[in-house]
Parts: sequence; C-alpha cells; structure tokens
Amino acid sequence: MKFTAAAKLFILFGDPVGHSLSPAMQNAALQAAGIDGLYIPWRVKGADLPTAFESLRGMENFGGANVTLPHKEQAAALVDTLTQEAALVGAVNTVVARDGHLLGANTDGQGFLRSLHDEAAFLPHGKSAVILGAGGAARAIAVSLAEAGAEEIVIVNRTIERAQSLAEFVNRKIRASAIGLGLDDPRISAKVRDCALVVNTTSVGLTPSDPPPINPTLLRPGALVYDLIYRPQETALLREAKKRSCRVLGGLGMLLYQGALAFELWTGQKPSEEVMRQALVAAIANLSEVC
Ligand code: NAP
Repeated sequence: MKFTAAAKLFILFGDPVGHSLSPAMQNAALQAAGIDGLYIPWRVKGADLPTAFESLRGMENFGGANVTLPHKEQAAALVDTLTQEAALVGAVNTVVARDGHLLGANTDGQGFLRSLHDEAAFLPHGKSAVILGAGGAARAIAVSLAEAGAEEIVIVNRTIERAQSLAEFVNRKIRASAIGLGLDDPRISAKVRDCALVVNTTSVGLTPSDPPPINPTLLRPGALVYDLIYRPQETALLREAKKRSCRVLGGLGMLLYQGALAFELWTGQKPSEEVMRQALVAAIANLSEVC
C-alpha cells in the first residue's frame, strides 16, 4: 500500500474493531482511486469517544470516518449536524468533514436497499417484509423499507418489547404499517408465509452450527430471504431457504454498498465497487484460513 506523509486519514471507530473488513475494503478503494489516504481502525471505549471525536476537529488531514458497534447511537450526539437518514435512524455510521463541521450520515439502510435492487432486482414498494431482530441493524432496515414504501413490516424479536418499540417508532416517524411480535406469537406463521421478503438481522447464524432463527418450513417458495450475516457466507437460514426454492442473499452486498456510499460522501468520487468486492472476498477467505 502506498501513502505519503500528507495522506488523508480515514478512521473506523468501534469496540472491538479487529474483526472488521472495512479497512481491507476501503484501503483497496483508496488505492484504486489513486487517493493518497489510509483507512485505519481505532478501537475506543464509549467513555472515550467524545475525546476521540474532538480530536478529529483539529486534524487537518482528516478524510472521514466510519462508526461501528457499539458507538453508532452515541456518535449521532457527537457530530454537529445529521443527514435526514441519520436523524431518522438515530445512529451514525459515517462521519464527513464539511466546512469545519462534522456531518453524521447513515448509509446502512441505503446500502441494504441497493443490495436488494442490484443483486435481486427487488423493490420493496407495496410488498410485505418480515424482519427478524430488533437491534441497530434492524432499525436501519425497518426505516429504509418503510421509506421505500413497504406495505407491511413485521418485526419479530426474542425480546418482544424491543420489537414493539421499533414498530411504534417506524409507525410514528414514517407512518408505515409495522407491528412487533415475540418469537412465540401464533401470527408469525401466516406473516412469514405471506411476505415477499424475510430479513435476518439477528446474530443467530454467526456461528456456523447455529440453527435458522425461524422455522424454515414457513418460508414460501419464491420469497427473497436475506441474511445480514456475511461470514459464514451461507448460514443455515439461507441453506434451508434454498431447499425451499426461495431466492437468497447474504450480507456481503450490504457491507459493500454501505461502504461505497461512505467513500463517495468522503471523497466526492464513486469508488471501484469491483475492487472493493474483491478485497472483501479475499479478506473473508483470509479470516477463514486463520480460524
Ligand atoms: P444488535 O443491535 O446487537 O442486535 C442483535 C439482535 O439479535 C437483537 O434483536 C437480539 O435480540 C437478536 N439476538 C441475539 N442473539 C439471539 C438469539 N440467540 N436468539 C434470538 N435472537 C437473538 O446487533 P446489530 O448491530 O443489529 O447486528 C445484527 C447482525 O447484523 C450481526 O450479525 C451483524 O454482523 C449484522 N450486520 C451486518 C451488516 C452488513 O453490512 N451486512 C451491517 C450491520 C449488521 P434481543 O433484542 O432479544 O437481544
């Protein structure tokens, strides 16, 4: 990798950050674009995040930042302004320096919608979706689906209160039709059978031996089943969905497109998405060899 002493610095804030694939993906994109820059992970505890953000203000070669778990909500309170999307989601995954100010953006939802569109030719408008999980990723996805005109959004979560509170939030902010259900709600069978899209945003599947997060016999042939998990590339949910003639997508596309959107916000240039995808695939292969 080539960079000079005048290189722009791009930073990933998180805790932990060692597992992140963003440095591989963004450094490859910077290199391919001929930008003198370097993207580095900065592991920081929540208590130290305000100081870390303050230090960005005095950094003349600050190029931009990403924010990952568990700091996305806290980051929204540390920037000067928020994009409409970040304000709606209440979380920031991208920080941009604008005229001496820090602008907080959130590219997760747009990255997800692009993945649906570009990789599965799927448009949510007028369609029903079931979201499994009600954490940070589910919030960005529920908001993006509601904004894209999804007809009904059913949020199913282990902790029912979180599912209900996310559904209420989406209904209040976007006037969508969302409901929150617990895992043992009898309405789930019909909702999963009738929907066009099932999205897993839980962490169930991260361990290769994890079972699917819902009963796969409920899945309807032809429905699109999307798992945000990208490692393993094929979770038990996707394997079972394929057996039932569903269309399936893993989370690599969302990771790629949210990163490409962040790159564009920082640099004003479209990155080479092919280079970014190749870097991601190589980084995942390297991780698999290490584990
Ligand atoms: P989070 O805020 O911690 O939420 C985790 C969710 O998983 C919660 O709804 C939690 O339910 C549920 N959950 C955890 N363990 C469970 C279990 N054993 N059984 C049932 N439900 C369980 O995490 P997040 O930020 O939303 O991320 C979730 C997943 O999405 C992670 O795997 C992450 O890697 C992935 N992700 C991928 C991308 C991408 O670009 N592809 C982007 C963001 C996130 P409770 O509320 O009951 O605890």
